Amino acid sequence: MANTFFNRSAEETLREQKSSRDGLTGAQAKERLETYGPNALVEGKKKGLLQVFLEQFKDLLVVILIIAAVISLLSGQGESTLVIFAVILLNAILGTVQYFKAEKSLDSLKAMSSPSAKVLRDGARQEIPSRDVAPGDIVFLEAGDMVVADGRILENFSLKVNESSLTGESEGVDKTEEPIEGGEVALGDQKNMVFSGSLVTYGRATVVVTGTGMQTELGKIAALMNQTQQRKTPLQQSLDDFSKKLAVIILCICALVFGLSLYRAMPVLDSLMFAVALAVAAIPEALSSIVTIVLALGTQKMAKENAIIKDLKAVESLGSVSVVCSDKTGTLTQNKMKVQKVYADGKLLDGSEMQLLNDPQRLLLKAAVLDSDATDVEGVEIGDPTEVALVQLGDRYGVEEVAYRRQHPRLGELAFDSDRKLMSTLHDVDGKPTLLTKGAIDVLLARATHIYTSEGVRELTEQGKQELHRVNRELSEQGLRVLAFGYRELDAARPLTLEDETGLTFIGLISMIDPPRVESMQAVADAKRAGIRTIMITGDHKITATAIAKQIGIFMDGDMALEGVELDRMTDAELDETLAKISVYARVSPENKIRIVNAWQRRGQIVSMTGDGVNDAPALKKADIGVAMGITGTEVSKDAASMILADDNFATIIKAVLNGRNVYENIKNAIQFLLSGNMAGILCVLYTSIMALPMPFAPVHLLFINLLTDSLPAIAIGMEPARKDLLDRQPRNPREPILNGSLIGKIFTQGLLIGIATMAAFYIGLQTSAALATTMAFATLTLSRLFHGFNCRGRQSIFCLGLLSNKYSLMAFGAGVLLLCAVLFLPFLSGLFLVTPLSLTNVGTIALLAFLPTLCIQIFKAVRGLSRKA
Ligand code: ATP
Repeated sequence: MANTFFNRSAEETLREQKSSRDGLTGAQAKERLETYGPNALVEGKKKGLLQVFLEQFKDLLVVILIIAAVISLLSGQGESTLVIFAVILLNAILGTVQYFKAEKSLDSLKAMSSPSAKVLRDGARQEIPSRDVAPGDIVFLEAGDMVVADGRILENFSLKVNESSLTGESEGVDKTEEPIEGGEVALGDQKNMVFSGSLVTYGRATVVVTGTGMQTELGKIAALMNQTQQRKTPLQQSLDDFSKKLAVIILCICALVFGLSLYRAMPVLDSLMFAVALAVAAIPEALSSIVTIVLALGTQKMAKENAIIKDLKAVESLGSVSVVCSDKTGTLTQNKMKVQKVYADGKLLDGSEMQLLNDPQRLLLKAAVLDSDATDVEGVEIGDPTEVALVQLGDRYGVEEVAYRRQHPRLGELAFDSDRKLMSTLHDVDGKPTLLTKGAIDVLLARATHIYTSEGVRELTEQGKQELHRVNRELSEQGLRVLAFGYRELDAARPLTLEDETGLTFIGLISMIDPPRVESMQAVADAKRAGIRTIMITGDHKITATAIAKQIGIFMDGDMALEGVELDRMTDAELDETLAKISVYARVSPENKIRIVNAWQRRGQIVSMTGDGVNDAPALKKADIGVAMGITGTEVSKDAASMILADDNFATIIKAVLNGRNVYENIKNAIQFLLSGNMAGILCVLYTSIMALPMPFAPVHLLFINLLTDSLPAIAIGMEPARKDLLDRQPRNPREPILNGSLIGKIFTQGLLIGIATMAAFYIGLQTSAALATTMAFATLTLSRLFHGFNCRGRQSIFCLGLLSNKYSLMAFGAGVLLLCAVLFLPFLSGLFLVTPLSLTNVGTIALLAFLPTLCIQIFKAVRGLSRKA
C-alpha cells in the first residue's frame, strides 16, 4: 500500500517535472547540479541576459512609446523623442535587472530547500548539503531520502528506490532482488547501484559515491531536457490579463479621442499626441514588476522567519488558508522525548525504578536499547527522539549502547514505518535468535499471543489485553506517548519478512513525555482569532493526542477525536456531516490525510497540511499549501511541499499565513495606488479633450510619473509591515477577484480627487499660458500621487498607521520630491521635459493643491475609523 501511494505521487511529480523541464545547456546543468543538487535540473529555464533584455521590448507600451517618439519628432520636439527613447532603454534595463534579482532570490530560496545527505566524514556520521558530497564519500540512505549522487551499494537493508526521474518508471525498484546477468543492463536493473535523483521509498543502505554532478546518470541526460517554464502566479496572470483588457479598452478610447480631436479640426499630429498621452497615462507600466518585487520581498521575509516558500503561488494562497492540519509530534510538541513510566510484569513503575533482577523488566530495557537506531554518545543525540529517549533510559542503568549493541549484533531488521507503526530487529539473545519488536500498543497487542512475566511466559488472554489497554489509557490521558515491546524466538537467523512480526510475546510498555512547544498555544489562539481552524493529525494514540490537543487549545468541549480506522468506516456524506466537530485525527494513514484535505476542500476551505514521511507526498500535493518539515522531513516530502518549515514549528505556519495575508494586502494597496494615480491622469486627458482645452501633459510627463515617481511609493507600500489587526480579519475568499467593487470604487473616487486638484492647477496656469498650465498640471499630478502613497499604506488613517512605521514610504516620498524638483528646476532637465519656470506662488499653489486630495482622504479615513470605534 505504501508503494502504491508513493508511486502515485511519483507519477504526479514526474508529469509535472516533464512539463517543466527546459533546455539547459551542459554548462548550466552542471552549475545547477553542483549548486543545488539533482532537483535543480527540473526547476525551470535560465534565460540569458540578452534574451531577457530583448524580451523587455515585447510590450504594448514600447509600441505606443515608439509611436509617441515618432510623433514628437514629426512635431519638431526632438528632445522629447530623445527622452522617450531613453525611457524605453531605461525601462528595459530596469526590467532586466529586476528579472535577475527575482531569479536570484528564488534561487537562494531553492538553495535553502535543496537536499542534504548523511555521510561518513572524519569517522563520524554528518549531515551535509548535497553539493558537498564528493566521489568516495560513504553515504547513508534511509526511507524518505533523496539520492544526491550515484553510488555503489555496500550494505543493503531491504532498500527500495523510485528511479522515475531517470527511467520514467514510476514503480519502485527493489535493490535486494538478484541482479540481472549478462547483456546491456538497464539502469533500473543495476541492483548494486543507486542513482542521483532517485528517492528511497523503503529500507536502508550504505553506499560509496561513484559520481556527482554531471558525472551522474541524471547529469548525462540533463542536457537532453527541454521545455519552458511557468513562473507566474495566478495573481500575476490575472493582472497580466487585466492589463491586456485594459490596453484594448484604452486603445478604443484613444481612437475616440483622436476622432473627436480631428472632428474639432485639431491638427492631426496634435490629435495623435492627445491619443498617445491618454494611452501612456492609462497603461499601468510598473504594475506587473511591482507585484513580482513585492512577492519576492515577501518570500525573503518569510524565509528569515523560517518559512521557506518553494513556489511564489503559495504566498498568495497562504493568505486564504482557513484550515491548518498539523502533525503533532515535533510540530505542535517539542519532540524532546523523556521516559516517564514503564510497565512490565504487572507493575507500573517510574522510569528510574526498574529492577534489573526482574526478568521482564531486564528484557524490556534490553529491547529498548537494541531495537533502536539512535545513539547518545557524550550528550550528542543522533536519531529519532523516541529512540533517543529509549537509549537514554538504558544510560540511566549504565547500559552503554555502542558496546552493548556490539555484544548483541543486529542479525536483521524490519525498519520502522509509520503505516505499520512497528519496528523489529533480530539479535542473538542468550544464544537464541530473537526478534525484538516495538511499536504502537494497539498494533503490537493485536499481534501478541503471550505475555512475559517473572513466572514465565503465559498466554495473553482477552482479560490480560484489557488490563494492558487500561494501563495505556491511564498513561495516555496524561498526554504520554506509549510504546509497547514484544519478542519472538526464531528457529534460525534468517532474512526477515513482515510475517515474522506475529505471534509475539508481550514484554512491557514504556511511556514518554513530549511537552507542547511553548509557542503552540499562542499560535493556535492567534489562528482562531484570525478565523483559521487548527486540526491535529497524528500517528499517535487517540487519547494521547486528545490530551495534548486539550493542553494546546485545539480540542474544545463538544469536539470529537477520530481514529483512522473510524474514518475509514465513514462514508463521505457522514464525514461531511461531522467534519466541523473533529479536531483530532489519531492513528492516521496517508490516505486518511488525503480524505481530510478533500473533505475540507469540498466545503470550499483552503487547506494547509503538514507531512514529513515518504507517503505524505500525495496529501501535501493535494493540499492548497503542502508544508514539509525542514529538520525531520524526508526529502520526498520536501519535494512535494510548497512550503518548508526550517524549524518544524507549528507557530511558523501561522506566522507564514499572516505574512501571506499581509503580502496580499500590500499588493492590493500598491495596485490601488498605481491605478488611482493612472485614473487621475486619464480623467484629466479625457476632460481636456472633451472641453477642447490644450493638452495637460506631454507623454514624457506621464512616463516620468508612471515609471519613476510612482514606482517608489508602490514598492514602499509593498513593504508595509504586518499590523496586529490582520489577526482580526477572516481569511480572504480566494474566489473574490483582487479588483473587486470596493477597490474599483476607491480607484475611481481617489483618482477623481487627484484629477480635480490637477485640473485646478491647470486652470490657474492657463490664465498665464498653456505652457505654464501643462507644467503646473504635471507638477501637481506628480506631487499629489507622491502624497497619495501615504493614503494607500493601509485602511486606517496615517495617524493610526504611524507616519514613521514604514520608513521606506518616507524615503520614497523624499526621493520622488527630489526627482520632481530636479525636473522642474535643473535647466538641462526642464528643457528635456518641456517645463517652464515656476514662480514661488506657483510652487506654493502646486504644493497646496497636491496636498488637498490626501487631506480629504485622510479626514475621511479618520472619521470612518472613529465611527467604527463608536
Ligand atoms: P505525528 O504526530 O507527527 O504524526 P507520530 O510520531 O505520532 O507523529 P508516527 O511517527 O507515525 O507518528 O508514529 C506512530 C506510532 O508509531 C507512534 O504513536 C508510536 O506508537 C509508534 N512509533 C513511533 N516511533 C516509533 C519507533 N521509532 N519505533 C517503533 N514504533 C514507533
